Amino acid sequence: MSTNLRIPGARALHSPGPTHIPDEVLAAMHRQPMDLADPRVEATVDACEADLRRLVDGADAGIFMYAANGHGAWEVAIENLLPMDGLVLIPGTGHFSDQWAIQVEALGRRTVRTPWREGHPIDPNDIERALRADVKREIAAVFVVHTDTSSGVTSDIDAMRAAVDAADHPAVFVVDAVASLGAAPLSMDRQRIDVIVGASQKGLMLPPGIGFVTINDKAARVGKANPAPRFYWDWTRRADEQSYRKFCGTPPLNLLYGMQKGLELLFAEGLENVFARHRRLSGLVHAAVSGWSEGGGIDFFCRVPAARSVSVTAVRTAPGVDPDALRAVARERFQVAIAGGLGPLAGRVFRIGHLGDLNEPMILGALAGVEAALLAQGVPVGRDGLRRAVDALVADRSGS
Ligand SMILES: *Cc1c(COP(=O)(O)O)cnc(C)c1O
Repeated sequence: MSTNLRIPGARALHSPGPTHIPDEVLAAMHRQPMDLADPRVEATVDACEADLRRLVDGADAGIFMYAANGHGAWEVAIENLLPMDGLVLIPGTGHFSDQWAIQVEALGRRTVRTPWREGHPIDPNDIERALRADVKREIAAVFVVHTDTSSGVTSDIDAMRAAVDAADHPAVFVVDAVASLGAAPLSMDRQRIDVIVGASQKGLMLPPGIGFVTINDKAARVGKANPAPRFYWDWTRRADEQSYRKFCGTPPLNLLYGMQKGLELLFAEGLENVFARHRRLSGLVHAAVSGWSEGGGIDFFCRVPAARSVSVTAVRTAPGVDPDALRAVARERFQVAIAGGLGPLAGRVFRIGHLGDLNEPMILGALAGVEAALLAQGVPVGRDGLRRAVDALVADRSGS
């Protein structure tokens, strides 16, 4: 294997995060930082906040950005909403709900968890049941992962919100949209989401390094009443006009230059078009996987077609097929970087990311590379994968 970093042509990055970064974003970041008193700093932060607010369609009580990744943003929700020893309901989706729950418990809070069923989205009845069982109303929040990136399964936000309402429970409704924001529509106001947790490096087409939460008045009230000690993550400290205070220190300026440009690109394309593009491209991947699956060597991990994510597809491999060897061949021989299995799915799936700054030839190229890797590894797959993807492209008129 050559470790030469230079690969001729564009590198095909099809992990579900970090994702491909548009040239415009890279160029916007290629600038000197400003002195912190320069009014352009505030203008950049304000522009990012205004566009994030449009993107989440709500957040009356604020947007709080942190020089952090998605795990940092998880910690923001935990520290602000949960008192010490407080209780949170975390419906099981897979690796990401498990990891969030572990983080909650490491910070001295308690979880009620519902089990996850492999290949299935969250059952809203599990949420309603768990909340009804909480007769003392101890559960302060429900933390749901919208798209679990490890499984490629997306759960139904409206159905889960309805479950909280049906239980008539006052818990704060928090959605981890790290893998879905910028790829699928979400509206805090219309869907009555109290907090959205996000990060820069997936649908927002930016480098890793900014985690954020967007909150409504209810979340702000619960945060304010929470006596748990906190400092860096405390969003009330960050409710300030000055960017130095907003970031509890120096803002990550170059990332913010990039964010301003990245959000600008999303709105220039038009959010409806961005979402339609994600549906169209994910449809090509799903078509290819269905063609390959006829050989018996692989299949969709997600058993419910309507719950298949527009951001990432997890592909289950039959016993005896090593997904990590397959990935190495895809990357080293065919220049397509795909992702592997996480946590309980390690060694059982590979994942094709299809979110962010992508178009048709990029996806078709990636699918061709994956098909080549499957064949090179002798995995029994149907030969109809690429053909079905091209047919789906031709049949889909949403881009014209
Ligand atoms: C990627 C991801 C995270 C974690 O983000 P990091 O930036 O890797 O810390 C959390 N939740 C979901 C759904 C994700 O996809």
